[in-house]
Amino acid sequence: MTEGYRVVPGKQGPKDVVPPGPDVRRVAIIGAGFAGLCMAIRLRRAGIDDFVVYEKADDLGGVWRDNTYPGAGCDVPSVLYSYSFAQNGHWSRSFPLQGEILDYLHACAARFDLARNLRFRTEVTAARYDAAAGLWHISLSDGTEESAQFLVTGVGQLNRPRYPEVPGRHQFLGTSFHSAEWRHDHDLTGRRVAVIGTGPSAVQFVPEVAKQAGRLYVFQRSANWVIPKPDREYGRLALTLLSKVPPARLGLRGAIYLRAETALYWAIRGRRRGKLVEFMAKRHLRSQIPNPALRARLTPGFPIGCKRILISDDWYPTLARENVELVTDPISRIIRTGIDTADGTHRPIDTIIYGTGFLATEFLRPMEITGRDGARLHDVWKDGAAAYLGLTVPAFPNFFMLYGPGTNLGHNSIIYMIESQVEFVLKRVLRGGTHEVTQGQFDAQQSQVEAALQDTAFAADCTSWYKTADGKVTTNWPRRTLTYRMATRRG
Ligand code: NAP
Repeated sequence: MTEGYRVVPGKQGPKDVVPPGPDVRRVAIIGAGFAGLCMAIRLRRAGIDDFVVYEKADDLGGVWRDNTYPGAGCDVPSVLYSYSFAQNGHWSRSFPLQGEILDYLHACAARFDLARNLRFRTEVTAARYDAAAGLWHISLSDGTEESAQFLVTGVGQLNRPRYPEVPGRHQFLGTSFHSAEWRHDHDLTGRRVAVIGTGPSAVQFVPEVAKQAGRLYVFQRSANWVIPKPDREYGRLALTLLSKVPPARLGLRGAIYLRAETALYWAIRGRRRGKLVEFMAKRHLRSQIPNPALRARLTPGFPIGCKRILISDDWYPTLARENVELVTDPISRIIRTGIDTADGTHRPIDTIIYGTGFLATEFLRPMEITGRDGARLHDVWKDGAAAYLGLTVPAFPNFFMLYGPGTNLGHNSIIYMIESQVEFVLKRVLRGGTHEVTQGQFDAQQSQVEAALQDTAFAADCTSWYKTADGKVTTNWPRRTLTYRMATRRG
C-alpha cells in the first residue's frame, strides 16, 4: 500500500495507485514548527520517506524561531512541552525558555533525520486540487509548482503579527516593532519606551524591558487574570530524575496534565470549581500590588478564562516599579514624537513595542487553497473558519490542517492536540486513496462544537484573539483534550 500513490481517476483505495512523477510526492507539509515537524517525524517513523516540508523562513521552529523577545518562554510546564515519543528530560527549568525549546526542535529534526525533507526559504502561495489526477498542485514563491497526494498545513494560528489600528501609527519617527519581530539591534537602555498590549507576550518581555528602559509606559486596554508561576531552575537531583528515571518524568508529566484537565479546565468551562483559579489570581494580585488604586486598574472586568490566563510572578512587581507607568486611558493617537491618550495627556516616546498579538482568526492566509470543483477555502470560511475536528473540510479531499480552526486550548499543551491530529492524518496517508469528510459529518460536529463553545468562558464578554470581528469563537476547542483525542481516533 505504500509503494505508489497517484490515485487512478474514478477508483479509490490502496490498490488503485500508480507510481509518482518526478515532482510528485505522497505528502506535502507546509510549515516546520511543532506541528509540521511532528507530522514529518511520524511519517518517517511509519516508513514513509516521500514527503517534503516547505518552510518560508530559513530555519525550523515556527513561533519558537520567530519570538525571540527578551524573557520569551513557554507558560506550559516544560515536562509537558515535548512530543510524547521524544520526551525531553533535559530542560533546565520548570518553565522552558525559547532558546531551549528551539534547541529541542532542532534536536528532534536531527534525531529523525529530517534535513533531507526540509525546504527552507520556500513559501507556498497557493494549492489547487486536481480531481482527475487525485493530486494537490502546490504553487511556490519561486514560481514553480509541485504536486502531492496529501497536503497538510502546520502553519499555526499565531504566525502573522497584528498591529493596532491607532490613528497616526505610521507617523511615528522613533523606532517601533512588534514583539514577534524584535529589534535586537535596538538598544533600549535609558530610552522612553511604550509597550502597547498586556497579553501573554507582553507579560514576558515587559519585566525585561523595564530593567533597561529609562521610562516605560505600559498601555493596557483590558486587565488580565494572572496566576503565580512556580518557575525554578532544576537542581541536580531533579535533572537526574527527569533525564534518567522515565517513571519519574512520566509521573510528573501525568500530574501536570491532570491538573490542567481539572482546575484549569473547570475555569475555562466557567464551572464553580474553576473559581479556585480565580481565587488564586485575586490572591496573587492582592499580595503583589498593595496599592488599592493600582490594584483596581489591574482587576479584570470579565470572567477568568475568557482570554488566555496569564502566568507570571514578575508582571505585577514590574508595574509597581518607579520607572514604569501603567496607562489605562485609551490611546487616542500616535504622533511623530509620542503617544496621546483620550484624557489629553501627551507622552514623549523614543520606542514603541507592539505586544498586540496575531491575526489568529485569519487561518491559512495569505495562501489560496482551492478544492474540488473550484471551491475556495476563504470563500467557504467567509463567516469564520471551521473544520471537522479542526482538520478537514468538505470539498477539500486529502487536505488536512494541524492546529486548525477550533483546536486551540485555554488550559493545556497544544502539543497533545497536534499529536492527536497527526495520528488522524497518518492513518489516512497509510490507508491511501482519497479522503473527504462529508457535509453531514462536518455539520454534525460543527453544531456540537458551537453549542459547547457557548458554555465556555471563551464566549463571555471580552475582546480576545479567539473571536472574529463579529464575536464568533473560531479558534478554540471547548472540551477536554482527551475528548478530542478520542474523537480523532474515531473520526
Ligand atoms: P494577545 O493575547 O492577542 O494580546 C494582545 C494585547 O494587545 C492585548 O492586551 C490587547 O488588549 C492589546 N491590544 C490589541 N489591540 C490593541 C489596541 N488597538 N489598543 C490597545 N491595546 C491593544 O497577544 P500576545 O500577547 O502576543 O499573545 C498571543 C498568544 O500567543 C497567546 O494567547 C498565546 O496563545 C501565545 N503565547 C504563548 C506564550 C506561551 O508562553 N505559551 C507566550 C506568548 C504568547 P485587549 O486584551 O484589550 O484586547
